[in-house]
Amino acid sequence: MEILYDLIILGAGPAGLSAGLYGARGMMKTLIIEKNMLVGGQISTTSEIENYPGGMISESGTELTMRMKNQAVNFGCEFKTDTIIEVDLESKIKTLTGESGIEYKAKSVILATGASPRLAGAPGEKEYTGRGVSYCATCDGFFVRDLEVFVIGGGDTAVEEAIFLTKFAKKVNVVHRRDKLRAAKSIQEKAFKNEKINFIWDTVVEEMKGDPIKGLVSIVLKNKITGEVTEYNGGDKPIGVFVLVGNVPNTELFKDKLVVNSGGFLIADEKTLNAELSSTGENLEGVYVAGDCREKLLYQVITASADGAVAAVVSEKYVEENFN
Ligand code: NAP
Repeated sequence: MEILYDLIILGAGPAGLSAGLYGARGMMKTLIIEKNMLVGGQISTTSEIENYPGGMISESGTELTMRMKNQAVNFGCEFKTDTIIEVDLESKIKTLTGESGIEYKAKSVILATGASPRLAGAPGEKEYTGRGVSYCATCDGFFVRDLEVFVIGGGDTAVEEAIFLTKFAKKVNVVHRRDKLRAAKSIQEKAFKNEKINFIWDTVVEEMKGDPIKGLVSIVLKNKITGEVTEYNGGDKPIGVFVLVGNVPNTELFKDKLVVNSGGFLIADEKTLNAELSSTGENLEGVYVAGDCREKLLYQVITASADGAVAAVVSEKYVEENFN
């Protein structure tokens, strides 16, 4: 028998999990659909979360989001693993079609599909992904024990994860394209004090080179000011490269129908988190956007969670007013 949900949430990161909690607790029949087996989204690649209020000390992203999931489940939120490949968001009853062939139906939908790591775009990067090139320090830190590591990027993620990698690596080089970090001052200070971290400023990656047996063996860097090109290798050992240069939103499925900015982030009404229809520019009733897939000022677990809560409450009101 076909189930009609009050609310379906796409994505089980902090935004989706928070929406699931608020939706289910608001007595809506709520389903979260997530393409990965595990919940958590991108934050599950973070080794330690220091700035989520009330979070446990030294808690990882995986631990925090597992607690969030349990909380939503306790209120009756359902979960399904599937990848949505087609959406009808404009009809009154929304239909989401999964790779599995299942058609999921709902009175309202929250898009909380998050973002994915941006590539550095250097030759060799794709070839050596998983063989020396990584986008997740928590996942792959263990593999760089006693190796020299290069972290690309100057934001919060790059600098925080560079600090984390000093637990394993012999030396961590942070390669940044400017001479000032984007990361928060508190994170910068910790990194500047860490003797295992070396900063390579005004520098971009030209190439990542490898060998079929050892994996990634060297990285070619270019100083943008002087034009000097330097190839670094790990001597008789491989090297590790962590590309942590920001995110691209997972909005491919919606970008022809809904309004997105030049970076592909969905634009939502700031008050109601309603998605906007690109054909008319008007709010799309019953469809909301939460978390890192939308354009906003601050990309944090707390703001993603807040989005989820707001979107679920607005959707509850919409369902009450339009279906009962
Ligand atoms: P981000 O803030 O967008 O920073 C990306 C960094 O990579 C920037 O330093 C950028 O350089 C550099 N970059 C971008 N494209 C590049 C390229 N093609 N080649 C080389 N370098 C490139 O991304 P993020 O650090 O992943 O953070 C994403 C969001 O999550 C942010 O809002 C951040 O505040 C938040 N976050 C917060 C925490 C925390 O609060 N503890 C932890 C992690 C992430 P430029 O600086 O020159 O632009």
